[in-house]
Amino acid sequence: MVNASGERIANEAINYHDFIAEMLRDSSGRTSAEFYLVTSHKHLRAYGLGRVPAAPGRITPFFRNGYLQKGETLAELADKLNINARGLIETVEAHNAQAHFGSDPVFKKGGTAFERAAGDPSNKPNPCVAPLGTGPFYAIRIIPGDIGTFAGVSVDETGRVLTEDGTVIQGLFAVGTVTSSIMGGTYPAAGAMLGPALTFGYLTAKSIAGQMDDVTATQLDGLEPSETETCKNAAE
Ligand SMILES: Cc1cc2nc3c(=O)[nH]c(=O)nc-3n(C[C@H](O)[C@H](O)[C@H](O)COP(=O)(O)OP(=O)(O)OC[C@H]3O[C@@H](n4cnc5c(N)ncnc54)[C@H](O)[C@@H]3O)c2cc1C
Repeated sequence: MVNASGERIANEAINYHDFIAEMLRDSSGRTSAEFYLVTSHKHLRAYGLGRVPAAPGRITPFFRNGYLQKGETLAELADKLNINARGLIETVEAHNAQAHFGSDPVFKKGGTAFERAAGDPSNKPNPCVAPLGTGPFYAIRIIPGDIGTFAGVSVDETGRVLTEDGTVIQGLFAVGTVTSSIMGGTYPAAGAMLGPALTFGYLTAKSIAGQMDDVTATQLDGLEPSETETCKNAAE
């Protein structure tokens, strides 16, 4: 992946939370935050690229809607993308020179088990690194996005919302992205949002249901019949 100067900005195999942070860092002070995933025909057909499927999927529709750009040479591709051609060519040459040995001396791509697990195990010696190969070349535009938030309200293990000093706010519960992430504000891998949301959603609902049992047992006396019915329905 390169920026508008044709330069790589980070290890492309790290988790997407940290990669977005690198995109924001690189684009700080620039007027846009646009990046380009660049590949060759051989790799496009082998692995696909973003929404573009690997062979035998069709790639023609992606040219029509402008999602996929193509250049017979890197210079032509850079021209289509409106990015620095010399920068892109130098980046690819530097990458290719080391990639033959499975090495990425600048960003150490494929340096961890997490990264290698998402690579191609048949690509030796590094599942994450290969020379770009010959043209034609292709690219898609990438811009930073977000999939959730992780700095919400603090809760205990049954979803009870806590004040700043850790006191429970009675009757107020929260789960999911509205809460402060148990991952401590980072995102180790896919599932870091849905896993806790489902787990603590379940625990919180069970806890609330238990409390409703207590409510129905001890506090229904004196309520209007319609109010009693409402509470019972809620408990069920
Ligand atoms: C493109 C994308 C890919 C993702 N991939 C992954 C992944 O691979 N793994 C993973 O773990 N997580 C992933 N996530 C994150 C995950 O989907 C979210 O973190 C999770 O769905 C949040 O669940 P939630 O119930 O906390 O919030 P939401 O699903 O946002 O639910 C909140 C609900 O509240 C409703 N609402 C808002 N305001 C009001 C109101 N005033 N009154 C009533 N209702 C209201 C909304 O309509 C919504 O239905 C992805 C997110 C996106 C966008």
